Amino acid sequence: MAEFASWRHCPRCGAEIEPLGGGVRVECANCGFKHYASSKPTASGLVVDDEGRILLARRAIEPDKGKWDLPGGFLQEAEDPRDALVRELEEETSMRVEPLEFFDVVIDRYGEDDDAQYTLNLYWLCRVLEGEPTPADDVAELRWFDADQLPPPDELAFRNNVQVLSRWRNEHA
Ligand SMILES: [Zn+2]
Repeated sequence: MAEFASWRHCPRCGAEIEPLGGGVRVECANCGFKHYASSKPTASGLVVDDEGRILLARRAIEPDKGKWDLPGGFLQEAEDPRDALVRELEEETSMRVEPLEFFDVVIDRYGEDDDAQYTLNLYWLCRVLEGEPTPADDVAELRWFDADQLPPPDELAFRNNVQVLSRWRNEHA
C-alpha cells in the first residue's frame, strides 16, 4: 500500500475514508467515489549514438538527486507512451529522438519512503533525429557512456536502471 498511504479523506466529498482490501482500493461510503491503487506508468529511452554509446542523465532533483538515470518521465493522462518518451526527451535533453524497438518493462518505486509511488517503467531503444544533448528541466548533466564504462550500480538512480542497463550491456555491447 503506497498510493493510499497519505489518503485520509475522499478527494470528491471530503468524508473520511479507509483503504480496503489491504490497500487495493478505496470506496467512499458517503458519495460512492471509488479508486484502485496502481503503478504510475513512465516511458524512458535507451538512446544510443553511432559509436554505440548510451545517453544517461544525472538527476537534478530528488529522489536520487545526483545519480545517473535513463532520460524519460511520467506519462500524462491519455498520452501514448511513445509520445511521452519523445516529449520527455525533448524537455530533458533538447534532442528529438525516435523510439525504435520496445526493450523492457520493470516495476519499481519512485523513492524509498513508505508512501513512495510504485512505477511501471517502459523502455524503448531510440535513435537521435536531431539536436545535441543539452541538459534542461530536472537534469543536471548529460553524458554518453561506453557500454563497458557505465556508472557503478550505486551511482545509478532507482533499481530499474541497474536491471535495464545490465541487460542492455549484455545484449547490445
Ligand atoms: Zn466521497
